[in-house]
Amino acid sequence: MFPASEVIGLAEVWAGKARSSGAVETRGGRAIRFGVQHGHNLYRRPDRDRVEAELAEKQPRHLLLTPTCKYWGRWSTFNARKNPKFLKKLTKLREREVIVVNWLMRLYKQQVDRGGEAHIEQPEASILFKRPSAQVLRKPGKYHAFRSVLDQCTTGLRDPASKAPMQKRTWIVTSSQQLAHVLDRKCVCRVPHQHLQGTVRLASGNTVRRTEFAEDFTPELAELIAGVVMRLHVIAVGRCKWI
Ligand SMILES: [Zn+2]
Repeated sequence: MFPASEVIGLAEVWAGKARSSGAVETRGGRAIRFGVQHGHNLYRRPDRDRVEAELAEKQPRHLLLTPTCKYWGRWSTFNARKNPKFLKKLTKLREREVIVVNWLMRLYKQQVDRGGEAHIEQPEASILFKRPSAQVLRKPGKYHAFRSVLDQCTTGLRDPASKAPMQKRTWIVTSSQQLAHVLDRKCVCRVPHQHLQGTVRLASGNTVRRTEFAEDFTPELAELIAGVVMRLHVIAVGRCKWI
């Protein structure tokens, strides 16, 4: 057991801006981040081994996995069907991703084995969950997960230029009944959504793809996650597991 002051509340793997970690720290908790922006190339075995060892050593209470979604989402599958050249490229990229996905699933299971909570965030219907290594999430047993459907317009995702809401329907697959409960949020917008396509100019003057802009969690979403991480006592909310 660690002294309370040394307990890590949250570890984020494949973290971009790692806003959830920031929100945990703002509330007085401790967090660690792993990913390209934090000095780890997770496509390299030595880096993956280093991350895995650090997680085993520090034993965070929550582990948030946010693997890159561009190769698994509905759009890449759709585009690949239309374009054989893209399909070839996508198949190669997915081969590289599979190694990382299998590793993330190993981290998920290790986290649950240690008695912690593990969470994966992906776009709705991501085919990542069709990988053989991810099947344990849907089957009765130790790793059988909860799944929430989160419309990110409910957590403040807006087009940076027009301020129109962006829905970005997301699956949260998690061992935590509490997080599944908090992040199950459906759209109630009365105005049209901005679709996640094309580019947009930010206040800084830089232009980014909307899909890229929407990769980072909004501060509201990070707050909701931090709220669950910092709550030590879990309230039973009677949710069903993912089938
Ligand atoms: Zn909406």
